[in-house]
Amino acid sequence: MPLRGRPAALLPLCLLCLQAALPLRGHRGRYAGDKVIRVVPESKRETQILRAAFNRLKVDLWQPSSPFHIVEGTVTDVRVPQNTSRSLLPYLQQADIPYTILISDLQKAIENQTGSRTYRNRRSLSEYNYEVYHSLEEIQGWMYHLNKTHSDLVHVFSVGKSYEGRPLLVLKLGKRSRPYKKAVWMDCGIHAREWIGPAFCQWFVKEALQMYQIDPAMRKMLTQLYFYVMPVFNVDGYHFSWTNDRFWRKTRSKNARFRCHGVDANRNWKVKWCDEGASFHPCDDTYCGPFPESEPEVKAVAHFLRKHRKQIKAYLSFHAYAQMLLYPYSYKYATIPNFSCVESAAYNAVNALQSAYGVRYRYGPASSTLYVSSGSSMDWAYKNGIPYAFAFELRDTGHFGFLLPETLIKPTCTETMLAVKNITLHLLKKCH
Ligand SMILES: [Zn+2]
Repeated sequence: MPLRGRPAALLPLCLLCLQAALPLRGHRGRYAGDKVIRVVPESKRETQILRAAFNRLKVDLWQPSSPFHIVEGTVTDVRVPQNTSRSLLPYLQQADIPYTILISDLQKAIENQTGSRTYRNRRSLSEYNYEVYHSLEEIQGWMYHLNKTHSDLVHVFSVGKSYEGRPLLVLKLGKRSRPYKKAVWMDCGIHAREWIGPAFCQWFVKEALQMYQIDPAMRKMLTQLYFYVMPVFNVDGYHFSWTNDRFWRKTRSKNARFRCHGVDANRNWKVKWCDEGASFHPCDDTYCGPFPESEPEVKAVAHFLRKHRKQIKAYLSFHAYAQMLLYPYSYKYATIPNFSCVESAAYNAVNALQSAYGVRYRYGPASSTLYVSSGSSMDWAYKNGIPYAFAFELRDTGHFGFLLPETLIKPTCTETMLAVKNITLHLLKKCH
């Protein structure tokens, strides 16, 4: 049993031996032999070693999203390509940094998750299956279908076009009962690989339409409020995660000087843009973009939210994974002015969520609960006058990570639904 705490001075040399691995090209078999490992650095020395190694190797960080965020005592989940793991894993052993393997063969894990999808999805829209993940085309088809079949409660419209020219569809949900109604904005899929997000947005709409007739609370919500639901924010990235790279996170915009595509759509907002917790480098997963709102998707949604800022009382954004309910600020350690209202809404929401299956969510300001990040949509919404701004990090805590099995869609969405209903009903009571 080697002792922990070997002098860090010996390690940079070994670091030079590590091969920088480029991601494999081509979709099929792309992740064969890739592993997802978990490390929890227990000292400054270990933190420094991990940051340096992951920076150099350009491994795919699952949690946190950038080497910068790696801190002592916090889990770090990393996808390690097969050829990198041959040098990285012995290197970690040599440095006496223990790791566990969360997923030993990622390609197999992907195939297990998506094996028979093509057959299951070829159903008519009237028996739409909410317990499988859906491609962008299926989700858009579903939205147009609901627009026709539920025209009393649903109105679908586009807020703009994506970089690759796809419509940015939003579903307006609610009874047209009076001229002015408060509204709740919900978006899913800002980060392409977090597939449980779009599945939840769809689940929310399904539940709302089914329960409207029988559940007085849902009836009240849809009578007194409008919900703007954007099931897939980052449409190009989501499509790409289905066709080319299951673990794609960013948008798909091209860069004039680098071959790397895409911007982190949750670092591109005009609020402390590209400060702490965001990267200026176009090849990084947390790249903030060349300027704020450079991404047409961000620009279009920001424009819509600005235009409706008086009406919209809550901004809810759905991510994965970590099991957390976060509120502002993300970009600094400070308390928001309406802290007590927001905090009690969060407290009640996580308790409602836990009541379904006992799943516990951590909650609190994003900066101290997750990490500091600038240019996020949640901070932007809050700064632009939306008093309740939340970001959900849905299941799980790393066992499956981004490959949350389809069998867990139903429990995840059922419990999240309770939290969202709870926040929404809180809005209808007065708390300022
Ligand atoms: Zn995310």
